[in-house]
Amino acid sequence: QTSQERRRLTVLGATGSIGASTLDVVRHLGGKDAFKIAALTGRDNIEVLAREAIALGAEFVATADEDRYGALRAALSGTGIVCGAGADALIEAGEREADIVMAAIVGVAGLAPTLAAARRGADIALANKECLVSAGQVFKAEMAAGGGRLLPVDSEHNAIHQCLAAGGNQALERVVLTASGGPFRNHTLEQMAQVSADDAAAHPNWSMGRKISIDSASMFNKALEMIEAQHLFDLLPDQVEVVIHPQSIIHSMVGYADGSMLAQLGAPDMRTAIGYALAYPERRNLPVERLDFTQLSRLDFQVPDEARFPAVRLAREAMERGGLAGAVLNGAKERALDAFLAKEIGFLQMADVVERTMARMADAGAATGINAVYAADAEARVIAAEEIVGLRRAA
Ligand code: NAD
Ligand code: MG
Repeated sequence: QTSQERRRLTVLGATGSIGASTLDVVRHLGGKDAFKIAALTGRDNIEVLAREAIALGAEFVATADEDRYGALRAALSGTGIVCGAGADALIEAGEREADIVMAAIVGVAGLAPTLAAARRGADIALANKECLVSAGQVFKAEMAAGGGRLLPVDSEHNAIHQCLAAGGNQALERVVLTASGGPFRNHTLEQMAQVSADDAAAHPNWSMGRKISIDSASMFNKALEMIEAQHLFDLLPDQVEVVIHPQSIIHSMVGYADGSMLAQLGAPDMRTAIGYALAYPERRNLPVERLDFTQLSRLDFQVPDEARFPAVRLAREAMERGGLAGAVLNGAKERALDAFLAKEIGFLQMADVVERTMARMADAGAATGINAVYAADAEARVIAAEEIVGLRRAA
């Protein structure tokens, strides 16, 4: 293939779980012969970042951490690869000419570079949830103005995207997000009150970054995904259902007014969704496990228990409120998760912090622009921090 046929790809968050899987898929799809890497970003793991940039011939590399600029520059010296550090360098990575940008930075930190890519008109393979959860309308408006395609990588939304490609949007009644239920699916509230971050990070089916694994254990991950689905597929809150499906074989489903349901199934391996997005609208061969129905004895389903997993109820409330409520929920959740990781609060108190923050910011208002989103996110973190202090004092 000539370089003109190569697709220009940027990976934001290249050193994470999704980032590493993306680069693995890139290699399976032909590596340098199939893709020209416009930019890679990462925060901590400079050695891996530099090694991948050199191996794949990236044009530009950025670390989010300004203190690591020297290490990155040294690791890339003599290669001709341009590098940068800090928030502006991440935005530059997003803005660089690319056909498709994988958005795989964790948290609200992914918003600015992904928005920059959307504005420039790249197709966005979206793993980062917060672009839609916190900034739904703003992000969608930038995507529409830029004209790129939005290809969901989160496995549930990728499944729904595939189902809708087959069944269309006409007479769509509902979407059903499946949830594994995480490591505490069968724990009692008393047991859940005692769990550590390591317990919570041990996901039964998927191998993921630490924060999203803990969010899966609290079902805040599903909460974010409900809001994400609402924005992605223009749904009303009550069109988004959640069902616990411990085997994680059905990745999600759509239901139509004639009673038909379409489901997407596969092994729990993010490379399928990543490969779907990178090859879209084609499909390519990937070395993922094939489902063997002679080995799959059963598929189970259960209703999420909202007493043990209040995140689902809080998401529904944020969806009903709309506007900046998603930014508030997520900002409070990120702050509460940091407090749990720092052992300042217990596992169950994360939901208390989010609920109290949402109650205090009930009139957060409309998402008029990205600055309103950042302001709501920042205010939610301040209020959540106050609630964390209050909970610690009461303990
Ligand atoms: P991860 O923690 O493994 O990786 C995150 C990446 O972002 C790394 O490259 C890290 O260096 C970078 N990063 C971290 N903090 C940063 C900051 N402040 N500024 C800039 N860069 C920063 O996370 P992950 O599991 O790969 O998940 C990435 C995103 O994809 C998350 O939003 C997650 O919710 C979503 N997602 C992940 C999975 C999965 O299977 N891992 C599935 C669906 C969705
Ligand atoms: Mg998911």
